[in-house]
Amino acid sequence: MPANEAGMAAALKGASALDMVEAGARLVESDPEGQSVGVGGLPDRDGHVTLDACIMDHTLNAGSVCFVQNIEHPITLARRVMEDTPHVMLAGAGAEQFAASLGMPTRDLLTPASAAALKEWQATSEYAPIINIENHDTISLLARDEQGRLAGACTTSGLAYKMHGRVGDSPIIGAGLYVDGEVGAAAATGLGEAVMRTLGSFLVVELMRGGMSPQAASEEAIGRIMERMDTADLQVGYIALGADGETGGHAIHPHFSYAVHELKRGNIKGSLVESSHA
Ligand code: ASP
Repeated sequence: MPANEAGMAAALKGASALDMVEAGARLVESDPEGQSVGVGGLPDRDGHVTLDACIMDHTLNAGSVCFVQNIEHPITLARRVMEDTPHVMLAGAGAEQFAASLGMPTRDLLTPASAAALKEWQATSEYAPIINIENHDTISLLARDEQGRLAGACTTSGLAYKMHGRVGDSPIIGAGLYVDGEVGAAAATGLGEAVMRTLGSFLVVELMRGGMSPQAASEEAIGRIMERMDTADLQVGYIALGADGETGGHAIHPHFSYAVHELKRGNIKGSLVESSHA
């Protein structure tokens, strides 16, 4: 909800859909309380906080960074990859070098709370990453602006206590996020390995291209995972947004929540009416 509010605050100042999703993602990246994104993100099993993020606009422009460390705003770095380089994706030390060339400040992202959580995990884990419903939670944002342009952003510290070097779905265009301004947009949260194997966000958009609603497409893409994988202890959720503004979302297990924030022109001299729900 706070990410949506940040995006909407930007919209009220005339921001594009791309600016809106970046604003929302940045807010969560800076929040040390959120242990799944940016500052305060849970580290890998060796104690490194490694971040993945991507961003995409309605014209198939996309930018992505993966396996980056000590960068507070990977979403902004992903946007700069999209806008300032001929590439879509930069990884690790190369992405950090690009951030330095832009003058982006560095900071230690491991908070005392996340360091303590790692210690507790190390005491019982035998150094084996466990993939379950509890230890992941990406922030994915989709937006449609007043001109009808779509955009999406995805940012995460990835699976908690993962192997060093593991990259999930979130920075992979088509897996963690996909936007086609003529059709719609989709984004994922949950176990990246299952999303990558089914190229989930691209699948949701392609199902919408074939005529499905955002809700039906999300359900179908979740169904693909459930048909082919053991999902007893695995969570994936999709959110989807049609080019006309219709929204939908679905997940393997209950208690997956997402927030929708709408801003519509009212009848009285085009006044703005806000509504928001989770
Ligand atoms: N999808 C991300 C990943 O697998 C984070 C999450 O689990 O939500 O890295």
